[in-house]
Amino acid sequence: MASDQIPLFDKPEKWSYSKVKSLILCPKEFNLRYLSKQESANVQGIDTWVGRILHSVVADYFRSKKANRNEPEDIWQIYSRRLPDKLEWSKNPLGAKRAERFLEAFVVSDLAAKYPVAIEAPCKALVAEVFFTGRIDLVCTTDPDSETFDLVELKLNDNEVVSGSTVDRYLQLLLYQKVAVNIYPSIGRLGLYFFESAQFSEIETSTELCNTAVDRLGELIIEAKGSHFPATVNRFCPTCGYSERCEEYQRSIVRK
Ligand code: SF4
Repeated sequence: MASDQIPLFDKPEKWSYSKVKSLILCPKEFNLRYLSKQESANVQGIDTWVGRILHSVVADYFRSKKANRNEPEDIWQIYSRRLPDKLEWSKNPLGAKRAERFLEAFVVSDLAAKYPVAIEAPCKALVAEVFFTGRIDLVCTTDPDSETFDLVELKLNDNEVVSGSTVDRYLQLLLYQKVAVNIYPSIGRLGLYFFESAQFSEIETSTELCNTAVDRLGELIIEAKGSHFPATVNRFCPTCGYSERCEEYQRSIVRK
């Protein structure tokens, strides 16, 4: 095909929030992982391990609540049923403590009182000319008769969310809102629930915020087509998967 011809059947690229977060946090990591597709080391800390267990415990809690079968305290039974290999757990007393602290706070939280509509709901839509795909941890309402839906994401730890502007902090949920709006036309609140501090942080959503998130995704897509991918040493470097061979990170730890 001559270089001046426009490819008519180009498939839109696939983007997920992990890809977005990688580009915001460290363009070098984004380049290695998503453009050069270099293999990364599998660095799984205690956070990831505990987070995976708690994600499934909360999902099971809401599944059984959807069937009208439970009270917040029942999450303890679900947790004991889901407990991993006892030996493995006993090797991680810190993880066990974190999980128990989270469950104590969950029982009395606003989140536990919400009514589930969909759990781990897959979504995919054309946003800013790419296919944005993801899985919404929880679609819920504050009242079973309400037709306004809240979107909630469960986060492993307080550092997991990009800080900065409101749009960057809630970017994942704002993009999910854009994707989910055909199924759940009236979305009221967006919530982030952190396992580490057991804190629930919610905001009222708006069309303006949602449009700003789509513009932000558009800017990031343009950035990804560029040629400059600087390393940004950040708090996630130890678990990035490229840290062993990343000169910038290695230099930063030698300096310390
Ligand atoms: S170790 Fe840190 S600076 Fe290096 S690529 Fe990974 S995230 Fe970026």
